[in-house]
Amino acid sequence: MSTQAATEERTVVIGLEVHVQLETDTKIFCGCSTEPEEDEEPNTRTCPTCLGLPGALPVLNEGAVEAAVKIGKAIDADIPETTTFHRKNYYYPDLPKNFQLTQYDAPICQSGELEVRVDSEPRTIGITRAHLEEDPGSLQHAGGSIETATHTLVNYNRAGTPLMEIVTEPDFRSPAETRAFLAKLEEVLEYLGVFDPTRDGSLRVDANVSLVPESEVAADGTISDDALADVNRAEVKNISSHKGAEQALAYEVTRQENVLRRGREIEQETRHWDEARGVTVSMRSKEAEKDYRYFREADLPALEVSDWKSQIPIPELPDARRERFREEYGLDRESASKLTSTKAVADFFEDVAEQFDPELAATWVADNLLGELNYREMSITDVEDRLDEFKRLIELVAADELTVKNAEEIVLREMLDAGEDPETVIEREGLGVADSGEVAAAVTAAIDDNPDAVSDYHDGDEGAINFLVGQVMQATGGSADPGEVNGLLREELDG
Ligand code: ADP
Ligand code: ZN
Ligand code: MG
Repeated sequence: MSTQAATEERTVVIGLEVHVQLETDTKIFCGCSTEPEEDEEPNTRTCPTCLGLPGALPVLNEGAVEAAVKIGKAIDADIPETTTFHRKNYYYPDLPKNFQLTQYDAPICQSGELEVRVDSEPRTIGITRAHLEEDPGSLQHAGGSIETATHTLVNYNRAGTPLMEIVTEPDFRSPAETRAFLAKLEEVLEYLGVFDPTRDGSLRVDANVSLVPESEVAADGTISDDALADVNRAEVKNISSHKGAEQALAYEVTRQENVLRRGREIEQETRHWDEARGVTVSMRSKEAEKDYRYFREADLPALEVSDWKSQIPIPELPDARRERFREEYGLDRESASKLTSTKAVADFFEDVAEQFDPELAATWVADNLLGELNYREMSITDVEDRLDEFKRLIELVAADELTVKNAEEIVLREMLDAGEDPETVIEREGLGVADSGEVAAAVTAAIDDNPDAVSDYHDGDEGAINFLVGQVMQATGGSADPGEVNGLLREELDG
């Protein structure tokens, strides 16, 4: 590695290795469930294969391959006719076989890309490869962190969960870009239905960071492979969120800048992101590929995907759907964005827009429903099986059987807080729109009961009418239309 002059201006260069757990029913090479049971005991959701017992053989999960093909299509990757599995050999207690089944020189996805928006500028991030592999077990450092624990426990329940490792080109030029990329990637994976972002540890990121001399950056922003290989970099592990990635990388960039400023050299090393302390800590010098002694997995034949891949459809992806929402429903960019933030939201909006005016549907789904859900830290998936109730609520408003104000401020909120259907809330709170007889009676009563306000009105005090409207609204439980009440009162008083 070259000596790095301290004084030279440098460009931040980042490449990501993103591990995502694929949503399949069973593990990638055995029939064990991927779904943790409530209060599950460690090492119970296992079998001889995922425990790595001698003689146990792997059988590839078709669902995992389908998910990988969907991802490949979504990132415009080449999916080769034949894809193969290798053993990656290393000793670590979370890996009972002492090797990980993964893909090496024939990964299932090659040379893809993903477009992200950073400060409303489109940026295309190259994806070198994406391959299938098995998740190791998990370690629990007893009594503290990896550095302070007295001993470590191992749990193989996670071992064998299907993973897709998505490796990007070193195309990022700032920590903020990685955050935008991860958000976009998660959105796409969620649309594909291959990923559950709410599951703990379903997304894990290793981030490679270096500071490349400005003189190596071409006018078009590209950097030669030689220059990238020539500079020492740190690989930061243990990042588990978009925000974590941005924070860890911001810390690491500053750390490297300080090292260079002091006239020292950046080590080629693996560092650990300590989220609680907000720092990266040196773990070990970085492994080289040759350390892993990759060789073909003899127990899994080569996998032919060429004929099969055309039969695996993918849904309309978020960018395309946003565009279509703008055109088809006349939505502005912000509403279209909100309404396509997850596939569940977009599907629900389209369902509502089929029945009502798109503008009304957009207001109800984007502003009212999502707003109230956000406020409660809930998401549309929490109310997925109650969407008919929300449609009935909108129906009641559209048919003038419920005022907008009551619908938004009382019924919707009670539906979420009390888990009741709209009819129950309306009945309990007496919110049905008052019939004309009831309103007329309340108008007469307000005039009879408030002679002072009536004489004030006749003396030209306009404020008095507002008071009387208030009385009627109160008497009808807010279910009358204030404008209409105002008119009725004036008619009575002036007549
Ligand atoms: P290795 O085999 O050492 O892990 P790879 O070529 O597989 O290296 O790249 C691993 C990751 O490192 C990729 O995400 C890639 O984009 C990134 N990377 C490569 N060179 C650099 C660099 N100079 N600075 C930052 N990231 C880099
Ligand atoms: Zn198993
Ligand atoms: Mg690598």
